[in-house]
Amino acid sequence: SETHLRLPPWLKVRIPCNRTYTATRELVADLDLHTVCQSAKCPNMFECFSEHTATFLIMGDTCTRNCAFCNIQSGEMAPLDPSEPARVAEAARRLSLKHAVVTSVTRDDLPDGGAGHFAATIRAIRAVLPETTIEVLIPDFQGDGDALRQVIEACPDVINHNVETAPAHYPDIRPQADYAQSLELIARVKRAGCVAKSGLMVGLGETDDEVLGVIEDLSAVGCDIVTVGQYMRPSMSHPAVVRYVHPDVFREYARHGEEKGVAHMYSAPLVRSSYNAALFAGIGKGE
Ligand code: SF4
Ligand code: SF4
Repeated sequence: SETHLRLPPWLKVRIPCNRTYTATRELVADLDLHTVCQSAKCPNMFECFSEHTATFLIMGDTCTRNCAFCNIQSGEMAPLDPSEPARVAEAARRLSLKHAVVTSVTRDDLPDGGAGHFAATIRAIRAVLPETTIEVLIPDFQGDGDALRQVIEACPDVINHNVETAPAHYPDIRPQADYAQSLELIARVKRAGCVAKSGLMVGLGETDDEVLGVIEDLSAVGCDIVTVGQYMRPSMSHPAVVRYVHPDVFREYARHGEEKGVAHMYSAPLVRSSYNAALFAGIGKGE
């Protein structure tokens, strides 16, 4: 059973305690913001905060959906705070971010799914940090093309939308989402001339062939950047880790993606959707 699956050595992370880490936490709390780093209990939090990287979570810390792997609570939704885009921009400015990552909970309760709020946040960051590249990790907007267009028109450097797992596992892992709809979103992002990014987790019951199949599907819709990382259980009430994939196998996934024409494969146990996102910054600027 799961309790006998021991954490392999490549997943044990160093936990330094330094001043930048503490200062980042304080700044985020001070501006009354949320980071996905904290909400998702990301294993890279110490490292990223220490390097002035954080992924802002906008539109609240409560989600209308309830994905099995996710540590964000679902429940009563609060109205959007119109001051939030400016507060995110202020945090990005104070952290001197070179690459800002913004994501959100899924707001199926809002008519535009929060697309307008995303666009406002992109513009607010752009206004104070014109040189900073901006990456958004967006929900599927339930397939609403007009909502997606609002985000595209705000011109973020990278648009990321994760497929998370192989289609056969959607009913268990991502029950309110639709694999084909997510692929179509990525195809639309590409057709609009934007840099498209997606990713998935492994260890949720999928086979290696299913992983390769997802990578091929992403390649087929023109996805430029694909991330693959190990699923880690946020708490005992989340699904158990079915397997810990060896780093060599992650390298095989990357090789496969590159062969299939994915320009940038990031595949390793601790890769997260936004991990080392700053490395991708040049891609958005066409460097
Ligand atoms: Fe935050 Fe992403 Fe870094 Fe995790 S990998 S700590 S979510 S910026
Ligand atoms: Fe978590 Fe996103 Fe699923 Fe909401 S939609 S439960 S934030 S993974």
